[in-house]
Amino acid sequence: MNDYLVFALLFAAIAIGWFLGRRSQRKVVASPELPGQYYKGLNYLLDGRPDGAIDAFINALEVNSETMETHIALGNLLRKKGEVDRAIRIHQNLLARPSLPRAQVHAAHLELARDYISAGLLDRAERLLLDLVEESPQQRRASQRHLLDIYQSEREWQRAIDVATNLMPRKTLLGGTPQEPAELGQDVVTVISHYFCELAAEKRELGDLQGARGLLQDALDQDRACVRASIMLGEVECDAGNFKQAIRALRRVRQQDPDYISETIGVLRRCYRELGDEKSLRAYLRECLEAHSSPPLVIAAAEDILMSEGTDEAEAFLARQLELRPSMRGLEQLIGLQMNVSEGRARDNLDLLQKLVVRLIEERPAYRCSHCGFSGRHMHWFCPGCKYWGTMKTIRGTSLE
Ligand SMILES: [Zn+2]
Repeated sequence: MNDYLVFALLFAAIAIGWFLGRRSQRKVVASPELPGQYYKGLNYLLDGRPDGAIDAFINALEVNSETMETHIALGNLLRKKGEVDRAIRIHQNLLARPSLPRAQVHAAHLELARDYISAGLLDRAERLLLDLVEESPQQRRASQRHLLDIYQSEREWQRAIDVATNLMPRKTLLGGTPQEPAELGQDVVTVISHYFCELAAEKRELGDLQGARGLLQDALDQDRACVRASIMLGEVECDAGNFKQAIRALRRVRQQDPDYISETIGVLRRCYRELGDEKSLRAYLRECLEAHSSPPLVIAAAEDILMSEGTDEAEAFLARQLELRPSMRGLEQLIGLQMNVSEGRARDNLDLLQKLVVRLIEERPAYRCSHCGFSGRHMHWFCPGCKYWGTMKTIRGTSLE
């Protein structure tokens, strides 16, 4: 049914395009009839042979500057419908006409590049887009946006940085070309700082801590609020045995975005332990808890109280916190503490209860994107839902419904 609707639209568009084309030439040729190819195409359509219909339509509709838009619209319609091969044929057909004005040839090039991206032919799309960046001031920005998407999906971070740097003057990555919904993108500096973090992660993987450190500094030079760079710098300095520097980087997260403090606790604890200064960690956790409470922070603080002051104090602390902000993870920890001091049947019941709570926790997402609402069990710096960088955060206050 949908096929027929699409091809009926094609059919109508061809007729309109043909009449427009005729009108512009009526002083030269005064024929009121549609070309034979048009009827041939209609026959193919009625026979349920859309491939033949498209060939006939392409031949029927003369390509000139007035019908150009119709051709492009037909191709885009097919691409959106998933008929990428046909879209490519229509757009390639336009490029075979050297008589068209350059601006229109460039518009057709851009559409062909979009077809290639939809077909997964990224190399071909990249070549076309690079040419457009060089040759077409009108299509430059749209081409750079697509190049950025290609480099991002191929994890070519240095090239992505180069393209994004060229997009800098506008400050935001606007997707507002006529073919795309005009949607405000992220700040370019946010995006570039994440590209530097990706490069740094590759260096760290190879054991090049010095290289990683430099790239993380580049990320922070781009965007002083880049939490990810601070967290990674903390990890790199900790790996290198520079515990004080690591602590300095990790504690900066609190100023940058307190929602990420919980991501720093594991490495912070390791660093303070190495320095034999667990008291400072305890004080820091208490401060953070007062200003920015979240379930992971409550749990970290309770663990510290358990180790330094014992079970009774830790239990009392947890019970107080749960009263203020109920959370599944807090409850699970409280049950665990109770189990340590229980015996027999009571202990078995608590064990069962803890297992149930753990199952409930595992079924719930731990992180959510603040831009699109995508949620999951794992932290992603690049949101799989909306393709934004650095928008996923730990979910605060898991309720007890
Ligand atoms: Zn998102």
